[in-house]
Amino acid sequence: MDEREKFVDLHVHTTFSDGTFTPEEVVKYAKDVELSAVAITDHDSVDGILPAIAAAKDSSLEIIPGVELTAEYNDFEVHILGLLIEWNSPWFADKLKEIRIARYERMKRMIEKLNAKGIDIALDDVLAFSGADGALGRLHLARALNEKGIVKSIKEAFDRFIGKNKPCFEKRMIISPEEALTMVNHLKGISVLAHPGLMMHDEIIPELVQQGLKGIEVLHTDHKDKSALHYRTLAKKYRLLMSGGSDCHGEGKGMPLMGWIKVPYILLENLKLAKNKCYGHE
Ligand code: AMP
Ligand code: ZN
Ligand code: FE
Ligand code: FE
Repeated sequence: MDEREKFVDLHVHTTFSDGTFTPEEVVKYAKDVELSAVAITDHDSVDGILPAIAAAKDSSLEIIPGVELTAEYNDFEVHILGLLIEWNSPWFADKLKEIRIARYERMKRMIEKLNAKGIDIALDDVLAFSGADGALGRLHLARALNEKGIVKSIKEAFDRFIGKNKPCFEKRMIISPEEALTMVNHLKGISVLAHPGLMMHDEIIPELVQQGLKGIEVLHTDHKDKSALHYRTLAKKYRLLMSGGSDCHGEGKGMPLMGWIKVPYILLENLKLAKNKCYGHE
């Protein structure tokens, strides 16, 4: 197939974090929408990668190993994607485990806050929406609140209770952007600033570049054309690689998003070339 007709999705969640598709379902969906490659980028977990690779084994669909790490800078979130990572490193598994345990404890604190407001919800209600040992997050809690009829939509759960600065919000374990970038570097991956249009703090990009940031997510479901163009300009200015993905959460946020935004294969090709240049061939 002509390279120009090939498309990829470099930002997808599975049931190992807060997506509703299993890795196998991601693979099936990606094939249905005729993607050439899909990156599995769960929050704080790499456990979906191997099952996705197994499910795609007898097809031409490429599985790109990835992860999405949530860092904090001052008081806002900085999401760092690690793409093409050597995901199978024991030290990284230990670190992710530590982060996921902190997520579990945080979930208990958010539930306590909800209970203190007289809202009847228990940890088990939330765990019904998450995989065992997955990265537990606010989307699971929002879905549980919705299922129990406490809110009428996911959006309402965030707006009333668990959005940033709302009464039942609790912080995650804090890691700095530099720590996240260093980890991706040690995993011989390409670090990418996820959805900068949602972060809305372009002013920190030069500092992230100094700390080792290699790429920026130019194409994203929540970037309108104007944003995509803006971040393409910034990519050129700071000599960052361009990436793109749907941030599909299966049906977790409504419609599955895979296949809607068209990310050309050449972007993945450039990430691979950069990886080889930075870290040498395998
Ligand atoms: P956590 O990592 O547990 O803080 O949860 C992050 C998840 O919640 C990600 O999937 C976000 O996209 C989602 N999220 C954060 N804020 C909102 C919001 N206002 N509405 C819907 N989803 C949100
Ligand atoms: Zn998510
Ligand atoms: Fe994100
Ligand atoms: Fe994401």
